[in-house]
Amino acid sequence: MNCLFCRIIEGEIPSAKVYEDEFVFAFRDINPLAPTHVLIVPKTHYDSVLDAPHETIGHMTEAAKLIAKAEGVDEKGFRLVMNTGADAGQTVKHLHMHLLGGRELPM
Ligand code: AMP
Ligand code: ZN
Repeated sequence: MNCLFCRIIEGEIPSAKVYEDEFVFAFRDINPLAPTHVLIVPKTHYDSVLDAPHETIGHMTEAAKLIAKAEGVDEKGFRLVMNTGADAGQTVKHLHMHLLGGRELPM
């Protein structure tokens, strides 16, 4: 398997795990853009949101809600982002959701 996030999920590449369940794995972004910057990744490989079933997006979003509470960013607010394709700057071709919080986030 030549996919970075598949290898992180398998534990072949170390990561700072913050959450795991049957469907998703979540870990801290190696290049954080905010005090809380977590990547939420489905355990099944999809290249992007274009390929993923709605159940997968639902599992990722439910995990994001739990993580936002655990990180203490639920009250002041946070942002969920799924970069898709070149114009959005998607660099890893394994679907992932960014959870950003802990500071004001201008567009
Ligand atoms: P994207 O630009 O939406 O494809 O996001 C990919 C994200 O993965 C970037 O924010 C990177 O900083 C992050 N990233 C790349 N390699 C690693 C790694 N080994 N561990 C944690 N995060 C990573
Ligand atoms: Zn993968």
